[in-house]
Amino acid sequence: MSTNEHHVKMLILGSGPAGFSAALYAARAELAPGLLSGTQLGGQAALTYTIENYPGFPEGVGGAQLGELFQKQAEHFGARVEFDTANKVDLSTRPFKIETDTGEYQADTLIVTTGASPIHLNVPGEDMLVGRGVSYCATCDGAFFKDKKVLVVGGGDSALEEALFLTRYATSVTIVHRREELRAGPILQKRAKENPKIAFIFNTVVTEIRGKDKMEMALLKNVKTGEETSFTADGIFIFIGHTPNTQLFEGQLKMDSHGYIETDMLMQTNVPGVFAAGEAADPHFRQVITSAGMGAAAAIQATRFLEAESG
Ligand SMILES: Cc1cc2nc3c(=O)[nH]c(=O)nc-3n(C[C@H](O)[C@H](O)[C@H](O)COP(=O)(O)OP(=O)(O)OC[C@H]3O[C@@H](n4cnc5c(N)ncnc54)[C@H](O)[C@@H]3O)c2cc1C
Repeated sequence: MSTNEHHVKMLILGSGPAGFSAALYAARAELAPGLLSGTQLGGQAALTYTIENYPGFPEGVGGAQLGELFQKQAEHFGARVEFDTANKVDLSTRPFKIETDTGEYQADTLIVTTGASPIHLNVPGEDMLVGRGVSYCATCDGAFFKDKKVLVVGGGDSALEEALFLTRYATSVTIVHRREELRAGPILQKRAKENPKIAFIFNTVVTEIRGKDKMEMALLKNVKTGEETSFTADGIFIFIGHTPNTQLFEGQLKMDSHGYIETDMLMQTNVPGVFAAGEAADPHFRQVITSAGMGAAAAIQATRFLEAESG
């Protein structure tokens, strides 16, 4: 076997909370797991300035710092973290074959924790101001906007739910939606429309987000009239959907119609020996704590799977 080919008992794809938690558990079971970080070390959690809802940190913890702590703990027990990305997988026979940027892995078990990415507006200023006014998670970042003015982009259930949540903190929440009608269910629509802090701007898209060190305003365009306006706000919360990072497994792992990997309660996929955890398999909770919990569960089950095989 050449130096860029490796055989491991367990390979974990992804370095977010689910991946590092799986690595910690597998390492403590003395399986010397390999973990491929992908391009985003620490996962989505590393994108946010502070995480205040992960237990054990009463004062909150930096998103990137939490990722570093997760990594350090997993490595301390023998996990091997590689800055590498999987590009192709063959799950038809064991050991599974995983082609990466730098070589090939053969793995007796595979844990998929490739997460999901919030769909971005892809407008100028957005990427630069993530964590400085631009957010994709109200549960996570809402408290930073106490007595501030915020925009919410989207017209579905999650946009309205998050907008209602944001009214706990913000003085005003303006929902910008590209269509005439909201897509959210009637109860949510009623609650949002009756909330005195919530206002709506319909038939409108965001074309740019501006600010130096933090967001200062958004540029808006009415899609019917073409009229362009600016809107001064301290924050913009974007809820136009999530895409699971699971394209790599299409045709091999069973997924729902949105591309989330289907697992049973034991985090097992349709392929024996392949497990999935965190946001790649979870359209519902999408939190650090829930993803970490699923990662740990997947590693426990994968360990049992290997033990059962070795008798
Ligand atoms: C801005 C922001 C703020 C947030 N704030 C909070 C908060 O305060 N509290 C909270 O509980 N939650 C928060 N969340 C949600 C939380 O970050 C996610 O629920 C959590 O990170 C999901 O963990 P995960 O491990 O499943 O996936 P992710 O964190 O999405 O990690 C996926 C990992 O997979 C890797 N990857 C992808 N494709 C490949 C591949 N082909 N090969 C190898 N690796 C791959 C990526 O590089 C990444 O490391 C926030 C999310 C965002 C975007």
